[in-house]
Amino acid sequence: MDPVTRAQPATVEALTQAKGVSLRCWGTRGSIPTPGPGTVRYGGNTTCFELRHGGARLIFDAGSGIRPLGLDVVEKGPDTIHIFLTHFHWDHIQGFPFFAPLYDPEDSIKVIGPKQKDIDVQNLFAGQMGPIYFPIPFSVVAAEMEFEHLNEGAYELGDVRMEVMRVRHPSFVLAYRITVGESTICLVPDNELEGDMYDLGAGWEKRIVDFVGDADLLIHDSMYTDEEYAYRVGWGHSTFSQAVRLAEEGGVGRLLFFHHDPNRTDEELDRIVADVRDEALSRGSSVMIDAAAEEIDIPLESGT
Ligand SMILES: [Zn+2]
Ligand SMILES: [Zn+2]
Repeated sequence: MDPVTRAQPATVEALTQAKGVSLRCWGTRGSIPTPGPGTVRYGGNTTCFELRHGGARLIFDAGSGIRPLGLDVVEKGPDTIHIFLTHFHWDHIQGFPFFAPLYDPEDSIKVIGPKQKDIDVQNLFAGQMGPIYFPIPFSVVAAEMEFEHLNEGAYELGDVRMEVMRVRHPSFVLAYRITVGESTICLVPDNELEGDMYDLGAGWEKRIVDFVGDADLLIHDSMYTDEEYAYRVGWGHSTFSQAVRLAEEGGVGRLLFFHHDPNRTDEELDRIVADVRDEALSRGSSVMIDAAAEEIDIPLESGT
């Protein structure tokens, strides 16, 4: 039997013994939504995650995946929702005007993200609902809204601990390290691991390895193959092999490729994942490797 196929069921079995913390990717695609038969399994919606823990709704990014997530909120009843943003490129905010809880006065929504120079988070969001871009003005929003600026640092929200770090991508972009109980997840949706086009200070390479260090799960930008990257240097995204290298250097348990290229079909992703796994196993790597898929719950050990 192929060693790759032997390794994966054991992984799934171990993960299903988790107790109460899980992550769902509601959108895995980068740049633009890509519906169609070629992207059914890994998904065509753009960036959106939900951390499920004790009934709290913690959402990360508001790409088109936040629309079906909003329908889930409507179905289960009004809620207190936190939306943490990595940055304001279209694929990370374009689902927000279609997030149904916005229009329910019983919902309470707090949006937390990095201000861009002197433009605050509320203006960045209200801007995309201006009349030139969208028919319904932000003033129609009925939910109780709050906006908060977030910078690099460490934060706590109940028993969820978050560390936030600036990463290499055009504009001011954040990555999140989230710890609940014994589980640590790192979300790094858009980040170019190599190159020197972003000046984020000396020692950034070591800081990002420490940031993902010993995480149970790392979800990292893996938009390009090595061949494609040769023509995309400076575009703000990483390769599959760069993400694997980071996971190995950081001693990460499981890596999920993310921010799938809009032109990447499910079959191509399957092939890439299999090749990268083979290569990693042949090097004796202990990192479990897969590609993030839409609407799949990833359970994690909470330590409770
Ligand atoms: Zn993006
Ligand atoms: Zn981006």
